[in-house]
Amino acid sequence: MALDNIVVVLVGTLYGGNVGSTCRAMANMGIKELRLVNPRETIEWEDATRMACHATPILEARKHFTSLEDAVSDCVAVVGTTARQGLYRQHALSPREQAPKLLQLAEQGKVALVFGREDKGLLNDEVSLCSHLVQIPTDSEYSSLNLSQAVMVLCYELFATRNVYEPIQEKSELAPAQMRNRMFDMWRELLLHIGFMEEKKAEHMMAGINRIFSRGALTINDVNIMMGIVRQTYWAVDHDKHNRTAQREKKLAEQQEDQKSEEPSNA
Ligand code: SAH
Repeated sequence: MALDNIVVVLVGTLYGGNVGSTCRAMANMGIKELRLVNPRETIEWEDATRMACHATPILEARKHFTSLEDAVSDCVAVVGTTARQGLYRQHALSPREQAPKLLQLAEQGKVALVFGREDKGLLNDEVSLCSHLVQIPTDSEYSSLNLSQAVMVLCYELFATRNVYEPIQEKSELAPAQMRNRMFDMWRELLLHIGFMEEKKAEHMMAGINRIFSRGALTINDVNIMMGIVRQTYWAVDHDKHNRTAQREKKLAEQQEDQKSEEPSNA
């Protein structure tokens, strides 16, 4: 079932109580896999146990990671959640709009729901690892929910929508995040190499490119094609450079020959 493939990822969580309440929200909505990325070292695990109530099996089965990239490397979709509307966060959809698509994706592989720190949320480089972005609509006066309540809203929408979506019909499997990220790294290097962007603008430009790709699901075939384009472009650019150098050298040699024949002979 699709909900078995939903994974909740908490990044840099400060308070044990929130981890426990998150477990409870997940258990209520039939979602069982919890991953933590660098929670505060002195986090209060007793609070977590207390707030989890009957959801302690989820708390006990949690997995720890030292980077978000590692935590989501096996996921076919990485859904960032944000209370903020900054640059490159404007394409965020509501949980209700996003839920059918996420459940479709979860039919094919793991889907990570990623939640940020209580004080600072998700950082920009963490958002750039996300293939989808969700913002819970709120009153404009106060947009930031308590972490575990944000988890609950997302889990509830997935739970409530789980029988109301069309299964996806793709021949190729969806690409895991690790493969997508490798593709983005290759594109980044190529776009710098061909002068499409400068190093100092690369982060913004790649966030824009990520946003374009996040509008659809990328299969393994899609990613292989996009990586193939990068390899062929390198070949074409280098080959072209080689040809142009050879042409320049040939022209130079011809000019030198011409000059020689125009020089008056000493005879
Ligand atoms: N001050 C932080 C808020 C952090 S709240 C900020 O400005 O980003 C902790 C986490 O709860 C957020 O990182 C996000 O994952 C989730 N969250 C809180 N409010 C949300 C909202 N309106 N929509 C989506 N996620 C939200």
